[in-house]
Amino acid sequence: MNSPESPFPRLLEPLDLGFTKLRNRVLMGSMHTGLEDIPNSHQRMAAFYGERARGGVGLIVTGGFMASKHCLPENVEPLFKLPGEIENHKLITDAVHREGGKICLQILHTGRYSRTENLIAPSPIKSPINKFVPKEASAKTIEEEIEAFVDFAGFCQQAGYDGVEIMGSEGYFINEFIVERTNHRTDQWGGSYENRMRLPLEIVRGVRARVGENFIIIFRLSMLDLVEGGSSFDEAVQLGLALEKAGVTIINTGIGWHEAQIPTIATKVPRAAFTWVTAQFRQRLSVPLVTSNRINTPEVAEEVLARGDADIISMARPLLADADFVNKAAAGSSADINTCIACNQACLDNIFNGQLTSCLVNPRACHELELEISRAAQCKNLAVIGAGPAGMAAAITAAERGHTVTLFDADNKIGGQFNLARQIPGKEEFSETLRYYRRQLDKLGVQVKLNHRVTVDQLNASDFDEVILATGIVPRVPAIEGIDHSSVVSYIDVINGVIEIGDKVAIIGAGGIGFDTAEYLAHSGESASQNIPVFMAEWGIDMSFNSRGGIEGVEAEFEPSPRTIYLCQRKSEGLGKNLGKTTGWIHRLGLIKRGIKMLAGCQYQRIDDAGLHLMVGNEPKLLEVDHVVICAGQESRRELGVGLHKTFHIIGGADVATELDAKRAIDQGTRLAAQL
Ligand code: FAD
Ligand code: NAP
Ligand code: SF4
Repeated sequence: MNSPESPFPRLLEPLDLGFTKLRNRVLMGSMHTGLEDIPNSHQRMAAFYGERARGGVGLIVTGGFMASKHCLPENVEPLFKLPGEIENHKLITDAVHREGGKICLQILHTGRYSRTENLIAPSPIKSPINKFVPKEASAKTIEEEIEAFVDFAGFCQQAGYDGVEIMGSEGYFINEFIVERTNHRTDQWGGSYENRMRLPLEIVRGVRARVGENFIIIFRLSMLDLVEGGSSFDEAVQLGLALEKAGVTIINTGIGWHEAQIPTIATKVPRAAFTWVTAQFRQRLSVPLVTSNRINTPEVAEEVLARGDADIISMARPLLADADFVNKAAAGSSADINTCIACNQACLDNIFNGQLTSCLVNPRACHELELEISRAAQCKNLAVIGAGPAGMAAAITAAERGHTVTLFDADNKIGGQFNLARQIPGKEEFSETLRYYRRQLDKLGVQVKLNHRVTVDQLNASDFDEVILATGIVPRVPAIEGIDHSSVVSYIDVINGVIEIGDKVAIIGAGGIGFDTAEYLAHSGESASQNIPVFMAEWGIDMSFNSRGGIEGVEAEFEPSPRTIYLCQRKSEGLGKNLGKTTGWIHRLGLIKRGIKMLAGCQYQRIDDAGLHLMVGNEPKLLEVDHVVICAGQESRRELGVGLHKTFHIIGGADVATELDAKRAIDQGTRLAAQL
């Protein structure tokens, strides 16, 4: 073990793999950043991975690189086959090695998840999350695909990688061969379990033969498929044992196929929710095991290792949020870590929307070369009005650059609307962002003036050189007859607990805040995101390892809402269409399972003692409710911009209220302050 004085002795303990040594137990899990698909983006990848290696990560795994032309559009070859690519990839491996880190490239075959008409799978069975139907791979094609993995591994060795990760989970090509759900073949690649696990074993054997003994091979093994027709526990262990014999160095944990209807990494998922799965495999396998999913602080990682659940901790998004995670932990200042809040908003949602990955709490992630925070040429005296996400981001960035900054807020605390967000069951992580900002404001010497509503006259009379207006929003009050009725309340008073809400409630507006308010009102006890067994029971996951795929034959057990809740919108489309791409379905499904009634196509007529009168489609309806909560969007608050004679800038909700979220607010605040 590392020195007993070390703040995290197990996490920071080196791991000897025989032929090579990892400097600690932190593995940066593979994340598709979007840079992999852009030709000539190696410099950007080198900056991205190099910064994480400099931050102390022991072993980095790159985003998935496509192994086969069957993962790519017609006539596009995998990048590793292009001329000059070895030299290009050396930029990445050199950048990591210079900082004392190690790096493996993930070889990915997307199988029936490929977004191309050229896609292949063991059997021609369409995935529920892809419009394309795969062709059945012929025996010859399968041999070619194995060869592609082996060639790619040889390429990686030449390019200076310390190893490869073979992606065998998440419902991709290799995983599709392993389970009956997607493998209906009757040849040597299907039927018996021996036949179904032939593909991963052939790939690992082939790669090991090509690269020799002194090269890391990680296999990402699907330990819990979370889909019907997935592997049983015994089968997955059998495969793990066979992979060891075939020559893997490390086995990584895969949890859940992409098409599984169970959240595995969203903010609602408790921290370290799935390490009990790795723990069971660790009792049966002998190579080092990596565990993952929702481990976002060094304290939690240390606990997982202390319990003996795994040998290595994989963290992916936490290293987008803070490249210096490991160094800060080692220095005993984990309170300085900018914690990943598992929102998915700038990482996975971006990727699924065809954009580059970044991070809501750290807009520099994957933009290292373009967004630099350097010393200001001329130090100014700046006032930032509003300590919400936009104002806090601007204040710490400006202070870091050497400006003198005073941050004002009318409230008695920093955080703006994040103080409401963090009270929503399942969003407890948002408190970490406030802790981070509080600490940075203090360390960087920003003067924080709370309980201080700033006026234009004060600003005009001040000696500030420039003013940043980050005053946020005011909730929209819709023009509905009876809007002043005593039953009408604002979401702010509801979430702050100022008003005791009755048993029957209608919510007007089903955007992010309408959904969150419904979530808040639909809970009575402890949030499942704070309790692993409750979470598993809610989503129907068997923790005894008796169910195939971890879910077959298990009923989900959501606690019903203690109130009757109607969630209403005017649009006739399904509710929640504009929520996060990778998390919206979780919010929707959770509320439906709790019995929340969702009404689309509403025209609100009036609110009176009887309740909310409305038309739903062409049908008149009366919702006999005790309260009507207004969540009808926002309008910018920018009265300070009128009559202000100083140079000023407007950011966040004060700039544009429509479709505002903290991703935009923090990004805008950071980028403005980076160039002042
Ligand atoms: P605000 O957070 O509104 O901050 C503005 C600040 O300015 C306030 O603190 C206010 O007191 C202060 N102020 C105003 N006028 C003055 C003045 N004259 N003098 C001094 N101070 C003043 N976003 C996401 O991205 N993801 C989520 O999951 C998410 N969930 C949410 C859940 C809820 C329940 C709510 C309410 C919001 C949520 N949001 C979420 C939205 C997110 O919080 C906002 O987009 C973000 O806070 C906007 O930041 P801002 O800094 O522009 O404004
Ligand atoms: P929003 O997403 O714009 O939703 C506003 C809702 O009010 C919509 O349902 C809208 O739909 C309705 N509405 C608008 N004008 C109305 C009117 N005059 N009368 C009645 N209904 C009206 O805004 P929000 O819910 O306030 O959220 C603000 C921002 O915070 C969002 O943009 C979101 O990105 C962010 N946020 C994100 C999350 C998250 O989980 N990612 C969570 C919370 C908040 P109809 O017009 O169809 O009725
Ligand atoms: Fe974590 Fe959200 Fe950043 Fe993604 S965008 S890394 S989930 S904080």
